[in-house]
Amino acid sequence: MTKKKHFDIDTLLAQAGNRDNHDQFHSISTPIYLSSNFRHRDLEDVENFDPEKQYSYSRLSTPTRKVLQDTLAKLENGAKAFAVSSGMAAIQLVFSLFNSGDEIITSDDLYGGSFRYFNYLTEHYGIKFNKWDGKSYDTLASLITPHTKAVWIETPSNPTMKVINIQKVTDIAHNSDSNILVCVDNTFLTPIYQQPIREGADIVVHSATKYLSGHNDMLAGAVIAKSKEIGETLEFNFNTTGVTLDPFDSWLLLRSLKTLSVRMQRHTSNATYVAASLAKLPQVEKVLYPGQGGMISFYVQNRNQVDRLFKRLNIISFAESLGGVESLLTIPSLQTHRDMAKADRLKLGITDELLRLSVGLENPEDLAEDLKQALGD
Ligand SMILES: *Cc1c(COP(=O)(O)O)cnc(C)c1O
Repeated sequence: MTKKKHFDIDTLLAQAGNRDNHDQFHSISTPIYLSSNFRHRDLEDVENFDPEKQYSYSRLSTPTRKVLQDTLAKLENGAKAFAVSSGMAAIQLVFSLFNSGDEIITSDDLYGGSFRYFNYLTEHYGIKFNKWDGKSYDTLASLITPHTKAVWIETPSNPTMKVINIQKVTDIAHNSDSNILVCVDNTFLTPIYQQPIREGADIVVHSATKYLSGHNDMLAGAVIAKSKEIGETLEFNFNTTGVTLDPFDSWLLLRSLKTLSVRMQRHTSNATYVAASLAKLPQVEKVLYPGQGGMISFYVQNRNQVDRLFKRLNIISFAESLGGVESLLTIPSLQTHRDMAKADRLKLGITDELLRLSVGLENPEDLAEDLKQALGD
């Protein structure tokens, strides 16, 4: 057999789980190993236990999840990956690295659930969060103190699509203190368009509920660590807290990943078409589209149009979440960002006229037409 080389991401995805799935029958698709525990041969088997090749108890490791995690680590260029029960569980796992009194710098426009969790961490654990506007890199440098342990960013941001230069953030953070961890929530662009570890980030998280799984049918999260050292601490906390993904959902996510690349290309071409078509409508004030991926935000002229729009849509569903085959429209001020103080929301531009569209894989002309007729007179 030839030595394994680094394959293109498309090949990696299509081949995920084939050849390295531990199955004695050489199945092409990784089997679902529904076993909570695994038999040992003898004492020596336990004494020389190799967690990379053997299994004992499924919270620690189980074959289907192991194949998924190895795939996720390769996709994001990390040393170690963890598949967990939701995106929030992924964020929680990363925050298990920090202690009371630690300071974290975060970009100011984040997923609503992240805000809620960060407030909880301040109240219950005394972790301090300093907000950065995601624009001025001098401001970022000035926010770093001797207590700063991490910089947490989402790019493009949710829902106002601000783009942050990851390389600049990691340069500033690491030049100031090499122990500051730069963490990137890569849910929106996925490794198809953005590979934060290549730009110097230390940790990548995903809500795999979104594009990685892509079918609006499961909840999952992923954490990928750049280094073995961070990976080992995370592994201890992962096993200790039990935030693991079960074998069935691990299989479902692995299976979904195989089409990630083609799905992302179609999400992008559909969103490009729909964004251009929205921009031509007189009822639309402004369209925000970062040029890649399937997420578009747009402002309608007044809030009276919103309810009517939701009611008149025939294809696009009025529903939370994103990243799936089916197109979804949400109103962040009432849904994903409801827990944010109104003044903070408005400062970020999250008004009652702002809508967020997750462009699915339907025919793009059908989607554009659905929005046009629903917004029309
Ligand atoms: C949805 C989402 C999360 C949370 O993930 P869940 O799977 O819903 O727990 C975190 N970050 C971003 C950017 C998200 O869109």
